[in-house]
Amino acid sequence: MHAKIFMTDSFIHKGLRKKLVDGLRAKGIDNETVLAAIEKVPRHFFVDSSFARHAYEDKPFSIGAGQTISQPFTVAFQTQLLDLKRFEKVLEIGTGSGYQTAILIELGAKVYTIERQRELFAKAQTILTEMNYSPYFFLGDGYEGKPTFAPFDKILVTAGAKNIPQKLLEQLAVGGKMVIPVGNLEIQEMIVVNKISEEKYKTAKYGEFSFVPMLQGIEK
Ligand code: SAH
Repeated sequence: MHAKIFMTDSFIHKGLRKKLVDGLRAKGIDNETVLAAIEKVPRHFFVDSSFARHAYEDKPFSIGAGQTISQPFTVAFQTQLLDLKRFEKVLEIGTGSGYQTAILIELGAKVYTIERQRELFAKAQTILTEMNYSPYFFLGDGYEGKPTFAPFDKILVTAGAKNIPQKLLEQLAVGGKMVIPVGNLEIQEMIVVNKISEEKYKTAKYGEFSFVPMLQGIEK
C-alpha cells in the first residue's frame, strides 16, 4: 500500500501545518478548535504521493476517480459553519480522501460517512483505520442519507448538490444544522440549514464555492 511509505509525520510537516493554520486564520477562520484540528491532522497522509510535498498549500488536489480532496480553507470554513459540539452525531456525504472525516472526529463528533465511489471508499477506510480513526463507513448514495441511524445533529455535504435533498432534511434532528453547497456544475452557494421544528427550516448563505458534483447512485 503506497500510503504506508508516507505515513511519517516529521517536524517539517508539522511546521508546514502551522503555517497553513496561520494562513487560514489570516483568511478569516477564527474557530480555534477547528484550527487546532487542522494543525493536528497530517493532511499529507490523504493525498497522492506525487502531491505530498504540496499537501500544506491551501489547494484542492486530485485523489483519483476524478475526485478531489477539498481545499483546507473549504474544510475549515464548512467545519466552522457546522458549529460542532463534542459527541454530536454527524452525517458526512462524500468521504473522498477521508481528510474531512478525520477533522470531524478530532472535534469529538461521532461520524457516519458515505461515499459513492468504491475505490475512494476503500482507500479512505484503509487510511483512517491505520490512523486509528473509527467513523462508520458506508458505500452508498448520499442523496438517500442513512435513515436507520437518523436523526443526525449535523449533516455535512462535501459535494455540490443541485438542490437540498428532502431525505437529508428529514434525517436532521430538530435543532440540528446542515451545511451544503448548492448550485450548478461550476459554482455553488454555501448554504446552512437550521431545522427549527419538524416543518420549519431557516437557511442562510455563506458565499460561493466550487465542489465536484454530488451524483446519484453508486459507482460500480
Ligand atoms: N470530504 C472530501 C471531499 C471529497 S470531494 C475530502 O476531504 O477529501 C466529494 C466526494 O463526494 C467525492 O469523493 C465524490 O465521489 C463524493 N460524492 C459525490 N456524490 C455523492 C453522493 N451522492 N453520495 C456520496 N458521495 C458522493
